[in-house]
Amino acid sequence: MKYSILASILSFGLVSGCATEPPVVPDGSLAFFGATLIDGTGAAPIEGAVLIVKNGRVVAVGAEDSVDVPAGAERIDVTGKTIVPGLINTHGHVSGVQGLEDGHYTTDNLKRQLGLYARYGITAVNSLGGDGPEAIALRDAEDESLDRARITVAGAVVTGETVDEVVAAVDENIAMNVDFIKIRVDDNLGTSTKMTPELYRAVIDRAADNGLSVASHLFYLDDAKGLLQAGTGFIAHSVRDAEVDDELIELMKEKDVCYCPTLTREVSTFVYEDVPDWFEDPFFLKDADPAVLEELKQDERMERVKNSPAAAGYKKALAVAMPNLKKVADGGVTIAFGTDTGPAGRFQGYFEHMELAMMAEAGLSPEQILLSATGDAARCLGFDDIGTLSSGKWADFIVLSSNPLTDIDNLRAIESVWVAGNRVPSS
Ligand SMILES: [Zn+2]
Repeated sequence: MKYSILASILSFGLVSGCATEPPVVPDGSLAFFGATLIDGTGAAPIEGAVLIVKNGRVVAVGAEDSVDVPAGAERIDVTGKTIVPGLINTHGHVSGVQGLEDGHYTTDNLKRQLGLYARYGITAVNSLGGDGPEAIALRDAEDESLDRARITVAGAVVTGETVDEVVAAVDENIAMNVDFIKIRVDDNLGTSTKMTPELYRAVIDRAADNGLSVASHLFYLDDAKGLLQAGTGFIAHSVRDAEVDDELIELMKEKDVCYCPTLTREVSTFVYEDVPDWFEDPFFLKDADPAVLEELKQDERMERVKNSPAAAGYKKALAVAMPNLKKVADGGVTIAFGTDTGPAGRFQGYFEHMELAMMAEAGLSPEQILLSATGDAARCLGFDDIGTLSSGKWADFIVLSSNPLTDIDNLRAIESVWVAGNRVPSS
């Protein structure tokens, strides 16, 4: 009798438990489950991972048995897919270019470009120069509702003839509240005057006094060394005049400065001497403006590129840059993924994937390339809440249908892109 009462109480309890269980109330969290997850730190991928996102941030990530899925989470089955952190372009430009024409520096045009980057999986862009208050306003408005790429800026590229002039230019950028200072130390293949060491030292010192790091556009090996000695915080292009040497590699490591290859910048200078193969690539065409392609395909225009000394010069420069990338990477320098996209003919989004492929062509492994575009990119810029997927970081990531560690081109196999836990709209 005792037993049977207990049994009936138990069975009643079970039945009533089922019958009266309150409906699950969605708590706004998302639980992605079943994917292979690469967290951006260089750690081994997690198979059958669970990623919990709430209020724009990663709440938890790990193997299935190590993560509690909140009862109110919306479950998203991504079995068989791969999740990687959103890619970070450490050197891009979100500019006034629309089509092939400059002069359209408007909030709407900036938003358009940030949407375009995001659709290609680039969830953060460090715009190194040509940035105005409109970009600062967009940066400052980023919150958990964001569904386009994040932006950080360098303001106006610092130029000037005297120490007073360059210091004043740095101060103007600081007053605008920029994230970095950008300078150019280059003579553009011997066609212009190069910023002198006296001036770039003044810029770097002024920036440092205000807690800002200076990103340096450069071309020549000797300038790279001079800039590193002076305290530049970032090498924004490949060394392209000569093979890099041990002195440069040791300097970069000693100063903990990252190297940003921007190989596709070179490509953009000569590739339109012909109709590029990728003008037929659906991955390019999905976001391309047909009118722009027609313009680039005009015979007269292609002829001009073919006969341009700059194009020939930068074609040679690319042949120097490729092995230099491999050499600095082998030497232990941190590579920061970056493309210099944004100017006319350097197609945001698509060129990032071309850059990734070229890094592979230069001899970097998929692991190295992915790291350079995620965890290392964030570290190189000094950002600690993007680039990797762990508790507390922004939930910026890509769901891919194939694994980029097998082939870096698999970063093109984009199923969805998420910024602050929001799915990026497809157009
Ligand atoms: Zn640039």
